[in-house]
Amino acid sequence: MTIRTRLAVQFMLLASFILGGAFIVVYVSSANYRAEEFMGRLKDRGNNTAKLLIQVDEVDEHLLAKIERDNPVRLPEESIILFDHHNEVIFRLGNVKVAPIETSFLDRVRMEGEIQQEFDEREQVAFLFSDRYDRFVIVASGRDIYGRSKLRNAGRVMIATFLIGQVLIFLVGRFYAQRALSPVQRLIHDIEDISAANLSRRVQTGNERDELAQLARSFNTLLDNLQTSFQSQKNFIANASHEMRTPLTAISGQLEVLMLKARSPEEYGTTLSSILDDMHALNRLADRLLMMAQAENKAPASTFAPVRMDEVLWQARAEVLRIDPGYAVDIDMADVEDEADLLVQGNENLLRSLITNLMENACKYSDDRRARVQLRTTGSELAVEVEDQGIGIAAEDHERVFEPFYRAQNTGGAKGHGIGLSLARRIAELHGGRIALRSSIGMGAHFTAHLPKAA
Ligand code: ADP
Repeated sequence: MTIRTRLAVQFMLLASFILGGAFIVVYVSSANYRAEEFMGRLKDRGNNTAKLLIQVDEVDEHLLAKIERDNPVRLPEESIILFDHHNEVIFRLGNVKVAPIETSFLDRVRMEGEIQQEFDEREQVAFLFSDRYDRFVIVASGRDIYGRSKLRNAGRVMIATFLIGQVLIFLVGRFYAQRALSPVQRLIHDIEDISAANLSRRVQTGNERDELAQLARSFNTLLDNLQTSFQSQKNFIANASHEMRTPLTAISGQLEVLMLKARSPEEYGTTLSSILDDMHALNRLADRLLMMAQAENKAPASTFAPVRMDEVLWQARAEVLRIDPGYAVDIDMADVEDEADLLVQGNENLLRSLITNLMENACKYSDDRRARVQLRTTGSELAVEVEDQGIGIAAEDHERVFEPFYRAQNTGGAKGHGIGLSLARRIAELHGGRIALRSSIGMGAHFTAHLPKAA
């Protein structure tokens, strides 16, 4: 069922509940009023008849029967019977057949004063009438033909109004629901037109400030984010393949030249070692790309274990020295007093890669090829500071150096692919930390990786 039909049905049910309730109240109170009013009239008739017969000496049964025969206020199918204290009928008016009246009933009337009854669509009121000399019981009954017919008619009108009202309410409800939901229809239509191929499309938000306009705006923001992430993924793949192609082209070029003619063993040796260098570089690039994918994925967080950062620092140092034995890395951990302060909840491989990248950059981009590393702990945090006295980074590049494949202008001949820092930042964020940078051109660089301590 569509929301439109559901709303119309709910609207109809609600309205029928209210309308039906109101009609029932009106009908029941009219029915009660009719019965009460007719009983009142019956009683008046009984009273008047009794008064005439009992209290007016000139009037006897025959005269009263005569008077009453043409009385215009007589009620339809009326019957008035008067009983004396011996339960004898002393007067009877009306020739309708009424059920014989039991003595026990008359006794009850004498006890209770008045009894009202309704049977076979006839109302009957029996009551005590006391005179100076006797206590009479008057039983007056009649059929409220007009009152009942009026009530039946009103009931029929109510039922018809109710049924027609239902149909009208449903149609009106559907119309309003359709009008209210038309912006949703438009939204659905707009959304259906959007696919991965045309992510630049946006849904209309209209000028209104209602919930649907808010939904449309949120959806557009989602599309903005998706588009950016699609674009950066595309760029990433293009950049990654470009970075891989460069060493591969160099390798195949060198091999082709080598195969042109027979070479001396020294020449083979030199070319092969240059190819090996390129292969190493390629290998490291592949490693980093793999780590990038790993760091991108939030799942490793579930496999985190306590890692000792001092060990990570020593391992990273060894790795940097393996990359280039000409590099120097000084590590200072004098600040750390408690071994428990050295623990970080994380992935050891990723953390080692983070520190290696910072250390390698410090050596790579400084003349003295030296990195100074200091481990400090503050409160709930562990900070690894990596400092150098190299070429430094211009303020406007402080953010961009963390973007994948970005390399600043002043890198000179230093080899690189521009993914070390972006990988380092992702790893830090994956561990709930961050990387801060202080640097300016010619003044060296100071990177600090802030990581939360293991709880
Ligand atoms: P790569 O070093 O492979 O180029 P990174 O992502 O590690 O890639 O670094 C990005 C850029 O940031 C580098 O190209 C360089 O311009 C700059 N950079 C990184 N670390 C330093 C540093 N310690 N000193 C100066 N510049 C740096």
